[in-house]
Amino acid sequence: MTPRRDKKLLADWDRRFIWHPFTQMQEWEREEPLIVGRGKGPYLFDLDGRRYLDGTSSIWVNLHGHGHAALDRAIKKQLGAIAHSTLLGQSSPPAIRLARELIRIAPKGLARVFYSDNGSTAIEVALKMAIQYWQQRPSPLPSKRRFLHLKLAYHGDTVGAVSVGNIELFHSRFHSLTFPTVEADPPYCYRCPLKLRFPSCEMACLDPIETILKHRHLELAGFVIEPLVQAAAGMITSPPGYLRRIRELCDRYKVLLIADEVATGFGRTGRMFACDHERVTPDLMAISKGLTGGYMPLAATLTTEEVYNAFLGRYEEFKTFFHGHSYTGNALGCAVALANIEVFRKEKTLARLQPKVKSLTRLLRSLQTLPHIGDIRQRGFMAGIELVQNRDSRLAYPLEARIGHLVAQEARKQGLLLRPLGHVLVLIPPLSTSLRELKEMVHILRGSIETVTGKTVPMRR
Ligand SMILES: *Cc1c(COP(=O)(O)O)cnc(C)c1O
Repeated sequence: MTPRRDKKLLADWDRRFIWHPFTQMQEWEREEPLIVGRGKGPYLFDLDGRRYLDGTSSIWVNLHGHGHAALDRAIKKQLGAIAHSTLLGQSSPPAIRLARELIRIAPKGLARVFYSDNGSTAIEVALKMAIQYWQQRPSPLPSKRRFLHLKLAYHGDTVGAVSVGNIELFHSRFHSLTFPTVEADPPYCYRCPLKLRFPSCEMACLDPIETILKHRHLELAGFVIEPLVQAAAGMITSPPGYLRRIRELCDRYKVLLIADEVATGFGRTGRMFACDHERVTPDLMAISKGLTGGYMPLAATLTTEEVYNAFLGRYEEFKTFFHGHSYTGNALGCAVALANIEVFRKEKTLARLQPKVKSLTRLLRSLQTLPHIGDIRQRGFMAGIELVQNRDSRLAYPLEARIGHLVAQEARKQGLLLRPLGHVLVLIPPLSTSLRELKEMVHILRGSIETVTGKTVPMRR
């Protein structure tokens, strides 16, 4: 088959056989699909050999670039031994070694690793562990069986994760499936629910949270939170000290802090984990996306010895955690996750990231002069640019305008792949992206915003 025929055939088969996630398929079937054939560093190549910068890190998972020699090697080496064996009733060297490494790099106090396959299942595991913990701890408090979470939260697409999530567009249809929760306003400073400004507000948005905890702590098992950045909500960054205060409140009212580090973990925010910025140790921590450097589906829920101990007992006490997935602790996934952590060490990924984070801040700041930029939010290599119809009134674009989508279409023509969140443009480059490539990304972003919003203004600075 010639490459051209091959490509046409694959495009036809795609439209006939695949149902793509988060995609209006009626529209998809009319368009020419982008089919990625290979990747190298921060670049993806389609079947014609056209090159694109991977501005989403392949939806927030890739860290050290595509086709990284050490990661490739780790998978090949593990394949020489075995691809997969279960952790139910047996163990495997990569799963053992990885658990030890994870405890080494995780916030101090986390002591046990429970494997699963993706971010959503890591959250489900955390929720179930929390519920069972309160039933089985030395002085049980079984009335603690509800979860507190922030509005606009996103913790995955399975039903438990959807229950503790709150993104209208994704979740409202499934309301009848979900369990009841308690919600609080997020620290969305650009559109502050209390109409205050940081820092003079002194984080007054924490007061209603404290009130909830004070009155309802006996029914609350845990507080589920995306530390520092509510990612899918549009990269909503919390003010410094916010997470620390949440930790203190959870301690005071005996509520487990469940940190969803699925998006923020593994260097994304500039530290290994977002919790590290505020020296916070959660009681449970979910990790996935960056865990394998973007190579394999793997996830884990980490917890403390205290939570773990509540599950110990004679068999017939049935304190066992009855949960596990077919591919739990997959050997190829664990092997490449180990190599991922090793790359952090060998290549000094975090140290080398710091100046690039500053450069990204400067580059993004240069966009501020564009008339339709409302807010620019950034934590490490996670950035969200909120577009608005009117900057003074902060009038949002309606969802139907698909403003982010239009900008992404334009950027793709110019060689940059983006996946916006409604009217928020998202830039999440691989951590290995060079300064030159970052500049190229922001340059294309700027041009695309200008083209779509139809207003070109001279660059200041
Ligand atoms: C992506 C994400 C999830 C869900 O992870 P999946 O692997 O897609 O199931 C959960 N929480 C956060 C914060 C995420 O960004």
